Amino acid sequence: MLSIAVAGGAGRMGQELIRICLEQNLRLTGASERPDHPLLGHDLGAALGRPAIGANFSSSVADAGADANVWIDFTLPAATLAALDALPAAVRGVVIGTTGFSTAQQSAIAVHAQSRAIVQAGNFSLGIAMLCALTRQTAARLNLDWDIEIFEAHHRHKVDAPSGTALMLGAAAAAGRGVRLADATLPPHTGVSGPRAAGGIGFAVVRGGGIVGEHSVSFVGPREIVTLSHSARDRAVFADGAIAAAKWVADQPPGLYGIEDVLGL
Ligand code: NAD
Repeated sequence: MLSIAVAGGAGRMGQELIRICLEQNLRLTGASERPDHPLLGHDLGAALGRPAIGANFSSSVADAGADANVWIDFTLPAATLAALDALPAAVRGVVIGTTGFSTAQQSAIAVHAQSRAIVQAGNFSLGIAMLCALTRQTAARLNLDWDIEIFEAHHRHKVDAPSGTALMLGAAAAAGRGVRLADATLPPHTGVSGPRAAGGIGFAVVRGGGIVGEHSVSFVGPREIVTLSHSARDRAVFADGAIAAAKWVADQPPGLYGIEDVLGL
């Protein structure tokens, strides 16, 4: 039987995940929070203004994950890595929505995926999975006369840029062209940066207010522009995708999976 623990349970995504677990009557066994958080020791249901469920916020990953078989983590890169090191062995599956990992941190996740099933995605919405597939297809069909520019906008609290989703879209475009994103990424367009390099993939970022998540990929040809875009209206779309991933990952062998594996795309 699925039993879920939520890392960073008091955060924007953490609260959304707890709310959906409560509404879907999923077994919620605990949630972690940072050591100075005011909700530590409080009941997860009561903290959201609902009936108590007998599971509390804890600063200890071992305690928060004690009765869980799946850990869902939308926190900060360092917190996600620390949790992977400390999770009880009974936690068979992990869903990682946190973004902004360094190359070294990403390698550490890959090592953990040798002993646990991990689903990691910079975006858990079905619409973005579809946008990635369309981006890859389009990039494969249009030649280097079409410059690829990726735009993203998020709320003022977001700490990493470009967003994990923009990087997923960049990776999809690069894959369509048969190159690595690291080799194709253009430096930020600022100052006297010279003419645009052929085949480069550019990123533009906006931060402000409460924007949930806007992404577009433009293929800019000499005389026409194709733009594929996605607009997230409610962060529940990410939480729904993460819960679907939690149900899926609980039965998977160790490995590093993406949202496309969960959706069977
Ligand atoms: P948030 O700041 O609202 O929530 C993060 C929570 O983690 C906070 O409550 C914070 O106190 C907690 N935290 C910090 N350190 C911790 C620790 N050591 N142990 C336990 N908890 C700790 O942020 P958010 O908007 O919920 O986003 C969280 C992450 O998820 C970000 O990296 C964001 O980019 C990413 N995100 C991903 C998707 C997706 O679909 N993949 C969607 C939305 C957000």
